Amino acid sequence: MSAAQFLLLVAAGFLVWAAASRYRKYRRQQIAKQPLEPGWEDILQSKVGLYPALPNELRSALHSRMQLFLHDKEFVGCDGQVISDEVRLTIAANACLLVLTQTRPIYPSFQTILVYPSTYVATEKARDGMIVYDQHSVRAGESWYRGPVVLSWSDILHGSNNDEDGHNVVIHEFAHKLDEESGVMNGLPILRNSAHYAEWSKVLNDEYDAFLKRVERRRNTVIDEYGALSPVEFFAVISESFFEKPKRMKSKLPELYSQLERYYHLDPASWNTGSDTSS
Ligand SMILES: [Zn+2]
Repeated sequence: MSAAQFLLLVAAGFLVWAAASRYRKYRRQQIAKQPLEPGWEDILQSKVGLYPALPNELRSALHSRMQLFLHDKEFVGCDGQVISDEVRLTIAANACLLVLTQTRPIYPSFQTILVYPSTYVATEKARDGMIVYDQHSVRAGESWYRGPVVLSWSDILHGSNNDEDGHNVVIHEFAHKLDEESGVMNGLPILRNSAHYAEWSKVLNDEYDAFLKRVERRRNTVIDEYGALSPVEFFAVISESFFEKPKRMKSKLPELYSQLERYYHLDPASWNTGSDTSS
């Protein structure tokens, strides 16, 4: 093959790749633009507590991301759980709240969501000296590193319907998914700008230490005490509070709120959310 023929072949390969990539982008745009199906708006209004509070422009951003999410993810019912539109939409809407303004692909590292009717028993291998044994624990949800998300439908409903108790298992588990995108789960997700990392680390470390002290003294923390387990759980529970108790968080923990506001590029304290107040 002559050099000219080789160059021609490379150019042709590049054109094919560029056309395929343009087509993929076009297809994704078409999927994102699909209107909601009949009945979906009613499900969102009745099952997703934060949905009615969303400003209009964010509501249409949510619809687009939900369409992509529903196209990409596979839902599997376990222990007899039926995967209805209600189940799919409630999970998709809460999960996509976290990526409403994200420009990168949404949740690219996994495909499957397992849904149980209620809390389920997970079995893990544990070790005591030389003895390896099965350890059982009751769970409402979990997120496997680069693997499936597992959720309990009754806990999803309870957390999603109540938009101000600070508990939302879908937000919690999908915050873990954002955390793992950096390649390691450590409570530090990929930030929008590399210049933000130093400030994020300082504020999050200081806030985590102060939070641990409040937990120790049994003081009201705004944040679920489960976050005391590790910086990984801290990031997940502050994400729950950011969406479900935004006014209280902004008032009591303004520096933490402002880091999350910059990360999620959202200001839920300005939304019309239930009885969440700054006091
Ligand atoms: Zn967790």
